[in-house]
Amino acid sequence: MKRFSVESGQHLKRLSRATLILLATGIPPLGFTVALFVLGSIPDNVAPYLTVAFVLVPMIVFLPLFAITGYKYSMRRARERFAKLKNASCIICGEHLPDAVRLRDLRRTQRPHYETVHPEVWRWGERWKKINILGGTVGIFIVGLATYQLARENALQSILFYAYVPAYILAVYLSQKREIERFRSRWKSQLSENPR
Ligand SMILES: [Zn+2]
Repeated sequence: MKRFSVESGQHLKRLSRATLILLATGIPPLGFTVALFVLGSIPDNVAPYLTVAFVLVPMIVFLPLFAITGYKYSMRRARERFAKLKNASCIICGEHLPDAVRLRDLRRTQRPHYETVHPEVWRWGERWKKINILGGTVGIFIVGLATYQLARENALQSILFYAYVPAYILAVYLSQKREIERFRSRWKSQLSENPR
């Protein structure tokens, strides 16, 4: 218990340092974009230098650090949630699902319930898996394109491309949430029509 609290304390320190660097490198490109909007244009003779100093260099630090921090954070969250997930209930009917010893077993232990009781939900999940593989592949291309545009000093265009990533994640989250709610209410109405 004591070891855990020391570890999480160190984690907090590391995270805040990373947050500082993220802010220090994330704000200049943002400020530059705002300035670009306000001023309309930047004199050609200084534009390349300003873009390099305020966008390219900060972004080279920001993007990898953002990816690493995000990955670490989500892994930590996943570990924290795993304790709860181990005693998971079905997202549709709330039935208690078998315990998994490891995270990677979770899918295997939960699969039979979804496959037999809610086959349409299982198929839906499989379909989303394919969509996300496609969306992720498209995302890698778009981020590559955005970085290329940034190198070509097309900062505004590249930011529009970069926006694909959060927009995609938000769109997936919202539509999945809505569809799960629809599955749930359909399940409830079926249950009230023919109670088991
Ligand atoms: Zn269920």
